[in-house]
Amino acid sequence: MNALLSVSDKTGIVEFAQGLHALGIKLLSTGGTAKLLAEAGLPVTEVAEVTQFPEMLDGRVKTLHPKVHGGLLARRELPAHMAALKEHGIDTIDLLVVNLYPFEATVAKAGCTLADAIENIDIGGPAMVRSAAKNWADVGVITDAGQYEAVLGELKASGKLSDKLRFALSVAAFNRIAQYDGAISDYLSSVKFEDEKLSETYVPERSAFPGQSNGHFTKVQDLRYGENSHQQAALYRDLYPAPGSLVTGEQLQGKELSYNNIADADAAWECVKSFEQPACVIVKHANPCGVAVGKDAHEAYAKAFQTDPTSAFGGIIAFNRTVDKAAAEAVVKQFVEVLMAPDFTAEALEIFKPKVNVRLMKIALPAGGERAWDQGRNAMDAKRVGSGLLLQTADNHELALADLKVVTVKQPTPEELQDLLFAWKVAKYVKSNAIVFCKNGMTMGVGAGQMSRLDSARIASIKAEAARLSLQGTVVASDAFFPFRDGLDVVVDAGATCVAQPGGSMRDQEVIDAANERGVAMVFTGVRHFRH
Ligand code: 5GP
Repeated sequence: MNALLSVSDKTGIVEFAQGLHALGIKLLSTGGTAKLLAEAGLPVTEVAEVTQFPEMLDGRVKTLHPKVHGGLLARRELPAHMAALKEHGIDTIDLLVVNLYPFEATVAKAGCTLADAIENIDIGGPAMVRSAAKNWADVGVITDAGQYEAVLGELKASGKLSDKLRFALSVAAFNRIAQYDGAISDYLSSVKFEDEKLSETYVPERSAFPGQSNGHFTKVQDLRYGENSHQQAALYRDLYPAPGSLVTGEQLQGKELSYNNIADADAAWECVKSFEQPACVIVKHANPCGVAVGKDAHEAYAKAFQTDPTSAFGGIIAFNRTVDKAAAEAVVKQFVEVLMAPDFTAEALEIFKPKVNVRLMKIALPAGGERAWDQGRNAMDAKRVGSGLLLQTADNHELALADLKVVTVKQPTPEELQDLLFAWKVAKYVKSNAIVFCKNGMTMGVGAGQMSRLDSARIASIKAEAARLSLQGTVVASDAFFPFRDGLDVVVDAGATCVAQPGGSMRDQEVIDAANERGVAMVFTGVRHFRH
């Protein structure tokens, strides 16, 4: 049996080759890999010796030769194929071990030159991988160091690889090639080409949107069904998910997450991540129905739950702090579908253990205050339309106190300003039209997803009433401007004393006059947060 080893990432290759050698497998290899194996005392034949052709053009041509591809592609059961090998003095290659030039890592580096990116496009490696993967019936192909163990295991046990493993390796190999070519196509089609700048040191400016949008995702799992039981569904994740995103989480207990669970969990997690203080977000049908900050997880939950106890039933709950005993005891009293947190104490886990249906997700927060949208691919927001795809950069705007422009005679109090910032953060995660009443770091009434802003305002106050909360002295965030004064009148009638809205309407003056007439404070944020 002959194995050809040609790897860029040489992690674990010596140990693996030692294992092959111990089984009597003959080792063939390319320059750098061969050198390493020889240094480890392994007998290894250079591919250049087999092909009788030196590696040339700075390694651009190493293995592109019929002696290599013939040995990979010949069908062992066809006498004509085997006769052709014999006639041309070609040996079969039965195991191929390749990992490719690090194209993805190269272009991910800041300041990567176009020349460097191009030089890191592997040619011979993918060609060999394709040959071996096509001929999976006779050849095993390894494209990831994580496969060494399984391959050595079978070889040791039976001296050969099973059909099942060879087929799985072939599928993995074609997936890897598709990813690799996707990364190359994404990179090159994002380059804003400027021919007058072409030189070895040219670092191209790149569009956030590649010309092709393929090769981005890898499948996590099939889901039982989609939004409804007659729809099929699956979950994919970015090839390089941002740290702290939902798909990087680990499920500690409970049934498999459903399609709707995942969609809602993502909304809750993205929202809770945006707070610095201990926070809790409860989501139902993709909208926050209770959000609060507090001195700890328990207090944040108690406040968030109060906003809308009816809707919180069967909710999706996210914390940005470890769930401890006190928080767990409070949460477990309600029916909860999914619970997410950066961690759970041992006592909290014990409390949830008997609740076998509660899905517990442990998700690391992004380190060092990074935000998901700072990080490459997660910065993209996608929406399917018919047979098309809408892409946009994520809504990553964070409002600071200094951005607020007071437009009324009455000035907001410092407490009101703090609550305005809180309300504004929440409104960003509420479907439009969004009206969010808040007080003391807690949502007091949320109006979401209505076709008229007036209806969202009415619904928010109806919900507050149902939860027996008083809206007297609350602040309100409106995700987009009030087109008329009527929306403002509804929130002031309900008890709001301070309002944040983007401004920018033709009738801004009418709304400002109304606020002055009603004696409330109003600030313009200058940005809106539509979310559909
Ligand atoms: P080594 O470090 O052994 O010299 O090179 C290993 C790398 O070369 C692997 O990443 C492999 O995919 C790549 N490679 C193998 N054959 C060829 C070839 O003919 N052309 C190019 N461009 N790369 C090759």
